[in-house]
Amino acid sequence: MKYVNEFRDQKTARHIATAIKQAAHSGRHYRLMEFCGGHTHAIFRYGIQDLMPANVEFVHGPGCPVCVLPAARIDEAMQLAEQHGVILCTYGDMMRVPAGSRRSLMQAKAGGADIRMIYSTQDALQIARDNPNQQVVFFAIGFETTTPPTAVAIKQAAAKGLKNFSVFCNHVLTPAALGAILNAPEPVTIDAFLGPSHVSTIIGSRPYERFAKEYGKPIVIAGFEPLDVMQSALMAIRLVNEGSHEVENEYSRAVTRDGNCKAQALMADVFELRDSFEWRGLGLIVDSALQIKSEFASFDAEQRFAVETHAISDVKGCACPEILRGQKKPVECKLFGTVCTPENPMGSCMVSSEGACAAYWSYGRHRVVPGCEPAA
Ligand code: SF4
Repeated sequence: MKYVNEFRDQKTARHIATAIKQAAHSGRHYRLMEFCGGHTHAIFRYGIQDLMPANVEFVHGPGCPVCVLPAARIDEAMQLAEQHGVILCTYGDMMRVPAGSRRSLMQAKAGGADIRMIYSTQDALQIARDNPNQQVVFFAIGFETTTPPTAVAIKQAAAKGLKNFSVFCNHVLTPAALGAILNAPEPVTIDAFLGPSHVSTIIGSRPYERFAKEYGKPIVIAGFEPLDVMQSALMAIRLVNEGSHEVENEYSRAVTRDGNCKAQALMADVFELRDSFEWRGLGLIVDSALQIKSEFASFDAEQRFAVETHAISDVKGCACPEILRGQKKPVECKLFGTVCTPENPMGSCMVSSEGACAAYWSYGRHRVVPGCEPAA
């Protein structure tokens, strides 16, 4: 298959659904954790769960970078804009996540802070070039997919001698999150993982092999198109049936075992491991995030500006932490669809375009439309 439409073909989807029904043993329940929010959205957008037999369940994982960033880090970004007067640049989804006192960056912007939504690191560099008398901070978030562009931006700023540009670094690492899910004090039952696709184009499939062997869980690297997700579910079910603890790669059109070595080298040039990092839902995880190396300290906003770290609790009743650990589904949150909607989000999982709550809500599968209530 070559074109995107082919990965959305109904006839092939039905064919794979039949194969899944045949492969799933009727006497057991299969819980497959899709790591990425991109997979969760594909499942809800294309109705993939409806094509599964009743004993195949998708469990949603922590692979949404906006969702896993704790409110304290958003509060720190807000301090940079409000107390240090920097121009804070970030991606759209980050703007609406509630942080301290349930204020978001969008509300801070409405209150006068100079916070700008950008589409790429190059936009942030351009803003720095256009405003030589102001400090510009890029609020960097994301897994290994978005880390190489941040490394490029820092290197470009260094090469050009840009003195008014720095990065508030919140890049996190996928294998560490996988380890945290598997090592949780009350681990959820998971039979197999659908591994991330975009992240794996960078890190390759090799880093997952250790987890598959140590924890006895098969992992299938899965693309984001609906047929990718379905084919990966079929592969995962077959591995579970065989008792195999292997890593298989469904997304072979983009992912290799070793990944993108050039991007990895770029990241290693600019970043090093942080001792530990706080994740929403997963808590403090050792060696789970990156910080900027000392040779690039002048581009590290955490070195340049003093910010206070405040412990900020999530909105009362918000189940984002449990959802990110795979312990709850969005519909089990009391606030879902009542107090919390995409127009009025109470937690990160309802804001982000990769969030599980947004996936449940956006495609109408768990929404009662006024006037269209089911018959009593
Ligand atoms: S529905 Fe809203 S409040 Fe509930 S878990 Fe999701 S984001 Fe949090």
